[in-house]
Amino acid sequence: MSNISMEQMRFWSPDVRELEPYVPGEQPKIQNLLKLNTNENPYPPSPKVVAAVQAVLENSADALRLYPDPDAMALKQAIAKQQNTAVENVFVGNGSDEVLAHIFKAFFVQDLPILYPDITYSFYPVYSQFFGIAANTKILPLNDDFEIAVDDYKQPNGGIIITNPNAPTSIALGLPEIEEVLQANPDSVVVIDEAYVDFGAESAVSLVEKYENLVVCQTTSKSRSLAGLRVGFAIAQPHLIAALEAVKNSFNSYPIDRFAIAAAVASFEDQAYFEAQNQKVIASREKLTAQLTGLGFKVLPSKANFIFASLPSKDAGELAAALREQGIIVRYFNKPRINQFLRITIGTDEQNQRLVDTLKNIILV
Ligand SMILES: *Cc1c(COP(=O)(O)O)cnc(C)c1O
Repeated sequence: MSNISMEQMRFWSPDVRELEPYVPGEQPKIQNLLKLNTNENPYPPSPKVVAAVQAVLENSADALRLYPDPDAMALKQAIAKQQNTAVENVFVGNGSDEVLAHIFKAFFVQDLPILYPDITYSFYPVYSQFFGIAANTKILPLNDDFEIAVDDYKQPNGGIIITNPNAPTSIALGLPEIEEVLQANPDSVVVIDEAYVDFGAESAVSLVEKYENLVVCQTTSKSRSLAGLRVGFAIAQPHLIAALEAVKNSFNSYPIDRFAIAAAVASFEDQAYFEAQNQKVIASREKLTAQLTGLGFKVLPSKANFIFASLPSKDAGELAAALREQGIIVRYFNKPRINQFLRITIGTDEQNQRLVDTLKNIILV
């Protein structure tokens, strides 16, 4: 909080003075920029999405004047159909970050500590602090191969959140391991954040009918190329959805605007485009992984639209800075255990080739 004096801060609520907010990946304005730092999709959304947004304005003179549907029912129905679940099992929010915030409020403010890995989505510690449970959080180290150690999640707790595939490691757990965690914790909510699941991991949505303590969270930001739209969702049994609705309606009754509803519906209805686009990203990931391995990188086995890679012969921070000088931005976390890794979003094959060529030049000098 750079230029705010202590004196000015006296107006702030005391707990807000203590917040350490999430720092989003930058969106810089550099010429000829290659942006591989925030896991956006390199391909545009389905053309049907753009048409649906245009149709909102063309078909209704009231599109802007009137509030949208507070329940975004058309969107819930489209998600339920695509996910092969009941509409009663669907919750939607303004990006899955908002859905996750409601999840923390709805389930995790408990006497027992919540559990999550030391290396995972960096919004979780932010929400822990925001909802006053930072001191009541148990952070469990990934194992030496950067995998989630499932047995650690068999201790008393007030809730569990696991990103699958995990970020920024890109490594996925299988459904049998997720089921192990669910079965070991019948009295707490287990949240699986599946922001990257469409790039090759197995979704736990198929387990929702079987487990009354499971919440699966997904987003349209990555696999549907809709990061600019802000639509995320959760799938769970109705008694858990009811808690999320209670929190949402105590905070913002209209989180999804008319354009977002129409666009996201069109995306969920165009399954063929979605699958074809994800297959392209997966193929590019495998190709890039092989090329970087050839350059001497160690690349963790990825089921996401990014890879987590380190080069033993070169400091990762220096490598990120050198790439930046060439207009290529990747994500570097200056944190214990992962400060020798780069998180690189999968681009198109052309973009990835530019990355590889640039890296060759950097490494060879
Ligand atoms: C990107 C991401 C989100 C947030 O997605 P939005 O829907 O854009 O808010 C949530 N969880 C993880 C692990 C992510 O990587």
